[in-house]
Amino acid sequence: NSAVRDRLRIAIQKSGRLSEPARALLASSGLSWRESRDKLFCYGESLPVDLLLVRDDDIPGLIAEGVCDLGIVGRNVLRELINEREESGKPAAFREWRALGFGGCRLSIAVPDVWDWQSPTQLAGKRIATTYPNQLRAWLRTQGVQADIVMLNGSVEIAPRLGQADAICDLVSSGATLAANQLKPVLDILQSEAVLAGPAHPFADARADLADLLLRRMDGVLRIRD
Ligand code: ATP
Ligand code: ZN
Repeated sequence: NSAVRDRLRIAIQKSGRLSEPARALLASSGLSWRESRDKLFCYGESLPVDLLLVRDDDIPGLIAEGVCDLGIVGRNVLRELINEREESGKPAAFREWRALGFGGCRLSIAVPDVWDWQSPTQLAGKRIATTYPNQLRAWLRTQGVQADIVMLNGSVEIAPRLGQADAICDLVSSGATLAANQLKPVLDILQSEAVLAGPAHPFADARADLADLLLRRMDGVLRIRD
């Protein structure tokens, strides 16, 4: 999808933890919109910058396909797709352009409360449940530990209680969910926050100037917030 475009299209989460802060950041950067009836698309009024409201997991793929130009998504989601492409020998079609300072969390290894945790070698031969198999695999490799990865699409924290796994690798912010499931975080494998994701290569049309303008304004907003 290399069509020349003169409007910039940014994908943001439709509803979830990143929706409001993403809109607030874009609004503070001087954007305003007219919302469509179906709430999929917001037409940019102050600048030719439109929003697409989607599930966060779809954002990296939309950028890779050229359907969207930029996206606001958790580093955890972006990293997972970059690792997945690396594993299958595909070049990274997108990358992190800016860290945005909200949506902070960690991708952590958590084990049952009762484990006496010493080191990652204790995970050898264990089953670890996660929604982030590519990051877990890459991390296990750096540790020289062989474990079984159990891929789950949700409710990872209950897997040990159900006997589906011995440990988990999941997003943690307060740790309350882990504690409620008799688990404790022992290691962080990624420090995450919301990021502005964009293509690996610069734009070759009017979108280049629009993206520059937007980045300058965003940087100004982020500096003031610091
Ligand atoms: P969607 O319907 O868009 O797929 P979701 O349920 O996957 O939504 P949210 O729970 O809204 O997504 O989380 C979006 C992002 O918020 C996460 O990918 C992560 O980057 C960030 N985040 C911050 N704190 C947490 C947390 N405690 N648990 C989960 N995600 C968190
Ligand atoms: Zn999601």
